[in-house]
Amino acid sequence: MKVIVSVKRVVNHNVKIRIKADQSGVDLTNVKMSMNPFDEIAVEEAIRLKEAGKASEIIAVSIGPIQAQETIRTALAMGADRGIHVINDIEIEPITIAKILKSIVEKINSTICFFGKQAIDDDCNQTGQMLSALLGWSQATFVSRIEINDNEVTVNREIDGGLETIKVNTPVVITTDLRLNEPRFVSLPNIIKAKKKTIDQIMLSDLGINLSSHLKTIKVVEPPERKSGIKVANVCELLSKLKNEAKVI
Ligand code: AMP
Repeated sequence: MKVIVSVKRVVNHNVKIRIKADQSGVDLTNVKMSMNPFDEIAVEEAIRLKEAGKASEIIAVSIGPIQAQETIRTALAMGADRGIHVINDIEIEPITIAKILKSIVEKINSTICFFGKQAIDDDCNQTGQMLSALLGWSQATFVSRIEINDNEVTVNREIDGGLETIKVNTPVVITTDLRLNEPRFVSLPNIIKAKKKTIDQIMLSDLGINLSSHLKTIKVVEPPERKSGIKVANVCELLSKLKNEAKVI
């Protein structure tokens, strides 16, 4: 069973982002970039499937600029077998990413496609679902536990206020939630070994995919600044302020 894991290069989650002066987006100059944290969880789960003898090969795929190769290398150092890099320098929306991945999935003939539940830069939470629709595959989203028996996959899904257990058939697109696993630490020997693993490069223009956009960003702004808090003397004062000033009780 071949497994594809989709890994996106995003601004590191510890970086305090800056908005460009013209409000057209986030300023990426000299900003530390890393693998999307939910994609690290996806890579880890794929590796655990291989270690359990349920996956034969793990292929890490990234679509992005030349530096996205570093993200693929991280997946290879964690334990993925090989990588595919679709080189692209322009910003593209989730439906286009899903179309690109569809063409790769069809060539590789994979059975499971792992995605993060969302990319922390655009927070779209769309790409995995769109790929499953384009391929006509099952989908299991926000997954925090996976059990595979032959062509049946049982998963727990994190839903509002609880967990939902569903069973789907392969082939399947799975999007990973935070509690699925804790990604492994990448060791130095594995980083060195990863340098020898293959990354196939494809130019986006060679795939013949329509890149026309369905959405336009009007502006990006900082969230409003939080007002500073106040100290109250006792519970009675707190209740009075909540009732009479904040009017929330
Ligand atoms: P999104 O729908 O943008 O929130 O992204 C959801 C997931 O789709 C991410 O966690 C990745 O697994 C995958 N994904 C999105 N964009 C890319 C990309 N450019 N390259 C590789 N994977 C991507």
